[in-house]
Amino acid sequence: MKKFFTTLILLVFVFALAACSGKETGGKGDAGFVGISMPTKSSERWINDGENMVKEFEKLGYKTDLQYAEDVVENQVSQIENMITKGVNVLVIAPIDGEALTDVLEKAHKQGIKVISYDRLIKNSKYVDYYATFDNFKVGVLQGSYIEQKLGLKDGKGPFNIELFAGSPDDNNAYFFFDGAMSVLKPYIDSGKLVVRSGQTEFDQVATLRWDGATAQARMDNLLSAHYTNAKVDAVLSPYDGISIGIISSLKGVGYGSGKPMPVITGQDAELASVKSIIAGEQTQTVFKDTRELAKKAVEMADAVLKGEKPKVNDTKTYNNGVKVVPSYLLEPVSVDISNYEKVLVDSGYYTKDQLTK
Ligand code: BGC
Repeated sequence: MKKFFTTLILLVFVFALAACSGKETGGKGDAGFVGISMPTKSSERWINDGENMVKEFEKLGYKTDLQYAEDVVENQVSQIENMITKGVNVLVIAPIDGEALTDVLEKAHKQGIKVISYDRLIKNSKYVDYYATFDNFKVGVLQGSYIEQKLGLKDGKGPFNIELFAGSPDDNNAYFFFDGAMSVLKPYIDSGKLVVRSGQTEFDQVATLRWDGATAQARMDNLLSAHYTNAKVDAVLSPYDGISIGIISSLKGVGYGSGKPMPVITGQDAELASVKSIIAGEQTQTVFKDTRELAKKAVEMADAVLKGEKPKVNDTKTYNNGVKVVPSYLLEPVSVDISNYEKVLVDSGYYTKDQLTK
């Protein structure tokens, strides 16, 4: 009996949580009903993505149901199941675990629902119609090239010490970012101009589950105490701003940034905290991916499939999800540092000057 009540209370709690993590909006929804499933609100970018899509869909007369799963795979699956029950016509999904949606998409397909994979690739399902994303390999190339240029590796400078971080192993993008960066960095590691004192150079050794900043910080703490008591870190490859912030905390803890110079630290998403950190001279670089553009692209795709039209794509080779190559539209990422953040982020209206200086 006690167990029954505990389960009941838990269930009520879970439903209450699910209810407040999302919202249904829009006018009459004459054009159709869209389910938007985003991974988490813990990173700014997904909040912007969700809000931008709602805005764009509403402009076209769609009703939307936007849900955030707080990085819990089961939440995301049940939120999508809910959307199917509510009768959405199309789903736009940025998966937490790219391989966890096979069954739920089978259900969606049976109801005739179209599916757009958003930013991250949904794997192992033939029911993914289109994919809107950025050139993910290029994101990594921008990070790797930034380190190459900042350290003067092309001019033969070195050797320098570097440590590597990658993103979440259940996110297809993480491999693209890492491979892109390593396409630039690996030759220098092989020639000894870049030295990874920890010896951790394989994706599995450097991955960060769920892109978690605290996990990255703990790993950096360990690396510093095990390998850098008598040496200094010159560069850190970080795939994402939230991870960069964790790494920076760890570095500051042992005196980098005061006395010892901060290493070159990359990032991704141009999140507010990281742009401020760049202005403060801590993080060195980030990769800006304009979520306004990605949202527009996904909305255009959803609108086209619902009208029985073919959306415009620019890549039909790269994104094999294990079952099919998903036709994709890749947008261009842009490298940002202290020299161009105003032009790229402020002049384009992505941030106001005020937001960055307060
Ligand atoms: C996205 C990145 C983001 C990361 C963590 C990736 O799939 O492409 O923009 O930094 O997830 O949220």
